[in-house]
Amino acid sequence: MAREYEQSYFFDAGLYFECLQCGACCTGAPGTIYVSDREIDAIRQFLAIPADRLIQDHLYAFRDSYSIREHADGRCHFYENGCRIYPVRPHQCRIYPFWFSNLRSLKAWKKTAAQCPGIGRGRFYDRERILDIVQTTF
Ligand code: SF4
Repeated sequence: MAREYEQSYFFDAGLYFECLQCGACCTGAPGTIYVSDREIDAIRQFLAIPADRLIQDHLYAFRDSYSIREHADGRCHFYENGCRIYPVRPHQCRIYPFWFSNLRSLKAWKKTAAQCPGIGRGRFYDRERILDIVQTTF
């Protein structure tokens, strides 16, 4: 068993979360959303545009791939009264708010919960499920 799984965390008793699609995490404070080659391909197919146009108009270089641009007000380039690419949104969007940065401490989680009204309601995530999800993040 991995060492991380032997530690205790503030979420040992699990957490509740259900996305209300309010868009709060897609707008406001600036952020970085990693987009892999495979995700770029899925998004360009969904939008029916060439990959080079997608990259030029909506992405910027980040790590070994790209991140999604934001408007001046911090809104994601793909957010227009809802996510324009919701069925093919990147993995990092799909697993929010279960990011390592949000789960590193109870303080960080409470700060996230203050922005995300879906935290504390809906589906129950047990500790193992949360750890499995967070392993897939940076
Ligand atoms: S802030 Fe929370 S509830 Fe609102 S869209 Fe993002 S994940 Fe869903």
